[in-house]
Amino acid sequence: MSVPKVIFVLGPPGAGKGTQCQKIVQKYGYVHLSAGDLLREERAKPGSQYGELIESYIRDGKIVPVEITCSLLEKAMMAKSEMNKFLIDGFPRSENNLNGWNDSVDKKVKLLFVLYFDCPLEICTERCLARGAAGSGRSDDNIESLNKRVKTFLSETAPIIQHYKELDMVKTVDATKSEDEVFTEVTEIFDNIEA
Ligand code: UDP
Ligand code: MG
Repeated sequence: MSVPKVIFVLGPPGAGKGTQCQKIVQKYGYVHLSAGDLLREERAKPGSQYGELIESYIRDGKIVPVEITCSLLEKAMMAKSEMNKFLIDGFPRSENNLNGWNDSVDKKVKLLFVLYFDCPLEICTERCLARGAAGSGRSDDNIESLNKRVKTFLSETAPIIQHYKELDMVKTVDATKSEDEVFTEVTEIFDNIEA
C-alpha cells in the first residue's frame, strides 16, 4: 500500500474551506475530513466522554486539545484506508495541533501542501453570520463566538500558515470571489498536481 497523501486546508472561519473541499472531492476524488465536523459528530454521540468539553471549546472559538482531534482524524483515515488521498480541513490550527500531528500521524503520511483560502476577516464574519441566520444550526455562527474565532485564527492559526510558508508548502487561493471563481483557481492547482 502506498503512503496516504494529505493536503491541509486552512483559512479563516467562513473562507469557504468546506464548500471548496466538496467540489475537490467531486472532481478529484479526495476524501474530505473536516476536523470541525468530526468534533461536532463526536460531541453529538450519546455518552461521548468529550461531548461537553468539545461544545464549550467550539462555542468559545478555542482549539480542542490535539489528542482528541488527532485520534478522530486517524480513525476517519483508517475507515477510508483504501482511499489514499485526504483533504484535512480546518487543521492544524495551533502550535499544539501541529506538534500533536507531527508526533503522531505525520510520519505515516505524506503531506503534499497546505491549501490556504485567503479572505479578509470582515467578509468571513459576514458569511458566517449569514450562514447562521440561514439556519446552519452551528452554535458558533453568532457574533460573540465569531469574534472569538477570529481572534483565535489571528493569534494561533496564522502562525501555523506562516510556518508552512517558510517551508514553501503553501498554495494560496483568493477566496473573496464567487464559489465557482474560487474553484477555478483551485482547479489550476489540482490539475497541476494530478498531472
Ligand atoms: N476545532 C478545533 N480543532 C480543529 C478544528 C476545529 O478545536 O482541529 C473547533 C474550534 O473550536 C473551531 C470549531 O471547531 O472554532 C469550528 O471549526 P470549523 O473548522 O468547523 O469552522 P470553520 O473554521 O470552518 O468556520
Ligand atoms: Mg468548515
